Amino acid sequence: MNQVPDDPTVIAVAAGDQERVYHGLGVSPGIAIGVAHRHDAAHVAVPEYRILREKVDSERRRFTEAVTAAQGQIAKLQHKAQDMPASAGEELGYLLEAYQQMLNGSRLVRGVEHRISEDRINAEAAVQREIDQIVQGFAAMDDAYLAARIEDIREVGRRLVRNLTKTPYRPFSMLPKNAVILAEELSPADTALLDPANVAGFATVLGGAASHTAIMARSLGLPAVIGMAGILVGAKAGIPIVLDGAEGKVILNPRPDTLVAYRKRRAEFLRQRRQLQRLRKVPAITLDGAEISLQANIELPVEITSVLTSGATGVGLLRSEFIYMNRDDLPDEDEQYSVFADLVQRLDGHTLTIRTLDAGGEKAIPALRVAEGLNPALGLRAIRLSLKRPEILETQLAAILRAGVHGPVRILLPMVSTVDELLAVRAILDGVVRRLKRRHLPFATPLPPIGTMIEVPGAALAADSLAWHSDFFAIGTNDLTQYTLAIDRADESVAHLYNPLHPAVLRLVQFAAEAALRARIPVSVCGEVAGDPRFTALLLGLGIRDLSMAVASIPVVKRRIRSLDLVAATRRARVIMDQSDSARIGQLLDDFNQDAD
Ligand code: PEP
Ligand code: MG
Repeated sequence: MNQVPDDPTVIAVAAGDQERVYHGLGVSPGIAIGVAHRHDAAHVAVPEYRILREKVDSERRRFTEAVTAAQGQIAKLQHKAQDMPASAGEELGYLLEAYQQMLNGSRLVRGVEHRISEDRINAEAAVQREIDQIVQGFAAMDDAYLAARIEDIREVGRRLVRNLTKTPYRPFSMLPKNAVILAEELSPADTALLDPANVAGFATVLGGAASHTAIMARSLGLPAVIGMAGILVGAKAGIPIVLDGAEGKVILNPRPDTLVAYRKRRAEFLRQRRQLQRLRKVPAITLDGAEISLQANIELPVEITSVLTSGATGVGLLRSEFIYMNRDDLPDEDEQYSVFADLVQRLDGHTLTIRTLDAGGEKAIPALRVAEGLNPALGLRAIRLSLKRPEILETQLAAILRAGVHGPVRILLPMVSTVDELLAVRAILDGVVRRLKRRHLPFATPLPPIGTMIEVPGAALAADSLAWHSDFFAIGTNDLTQYTLAIDRADESVAHLYNPLHPAVLRLVQFAAEAALRARIPVSVCGEVAGDPRFTALLLGLGIRDLSMAVASIPVVKRRIRSLDLVAATRRARVIMDQSDSARIGQLLDDFNQDAD
């Protein structure tokens, strides 16, 4: 295996390894130079080693303990399932019962014990081999019922391995330095586990530019490319690799001259980033004196340290999903309170806007045990789920209200589509307040503002009535584009059609912004366009004065704001809003941006 260590200059290209270039969609800029690491989510990498004859009994005991622990964990989940709404609870109950049976003296357990005794291998490897064999057998039987059970068997196997290794499942915990991850797909939960100290970047076969995985890559400052068909066929683990997140390119086994060129590009990219950092202390003000508020979107608590140093004036969107990811149970009120309170305190008087759980669609949260509907993007998700399972919302609201004692917070509701939902949330909030009083717990007074995400076309069209019941709006152009154009934001096969500059999307943004201005409530844009300087003049021209974006984007957007004239931008926005063709809109915007440069 080739070694690529901290210093990429020591990359050695093995003789006979040809340079190969792959093209995809660049979703997070930057250059990664490192070693390829293949990530296969279906297969947990486990250590395998031989054991001595005298260790067989203790290894079998270790396995029995892992089985007992798994039975206990599943029993807990069964208990929780009883509190769930009837149909979901029943379905989950059957599944968990099946897991219990698999752990109860079944072929799996007997097979693993046999392998430990006869093959004299460690328990983790025995589990993995036995699972692989059962899965192969099921797959060969060409039976739809058994095929559907394969993932369940793998799940039980993963649980046993986790218990044996006594670590929560951390798929990226053993990475070499400068690993460039190559995967069929990375979920937002996987991405949350990436440590930028080891990971240099990633490329996936599946995914869209506006997917949460792409958003998280930008937040973590990790170069990333998606839509890389064929990359897993060509790439062996451990080979040298270059990834260009701006151009959407991956180069396997780069030639020496290619490496030299990319090292130069990387140095230039880092130099420009350092230069932009110098803007952090200057105000975000247009040439004609309009001050714009730039806030941060954060996905993970670690980002909070960079919020204030980036020059952001607060957090316009905290995606609270991270608290629910990569775990079996749901976070309780105290845990959420301590996370939020810590973040509020670290913002030193700047506002923290906490969005309630936006689960569903591509942001699957297994701990919620929600059966995936026919169309997850349109199903029981976000605020709909929180209202269907009010205990989730009550827990979050109580935690947010308590955290509000330590500094200013705002509550933001995802995927609202009707006024009724806002009224229901306010009624639940009243109950939460009453209970906090009864518990003699301090909470924010006055109560934090409650804002509505405008990310469903129907909400944008009903913005006037929603504005009556909202203290602020945050326009989520990622979902607004997805739902207006009926294009799955995470699907690479339609990624070329995903276009926030479509006149229908822009009209909805304009409509919602104007409704907020009429109702005199603050309105921000917090979708990905807010962090792309290409769109800044247009958003300002549409009346937006508050943008929330990944921390890394704040300097470039600020530079754009400082170079533009708001009166001219407003005039250009008017011309753009008269167009019916996205290509023409793009051209008018690019011409305007170029003239200003
Ligand atoms: C959006 O939809 O634009 C948004 C900001 O929310 P998310 O990307 O988390 O769906
Ligand atoms: Mg959204």
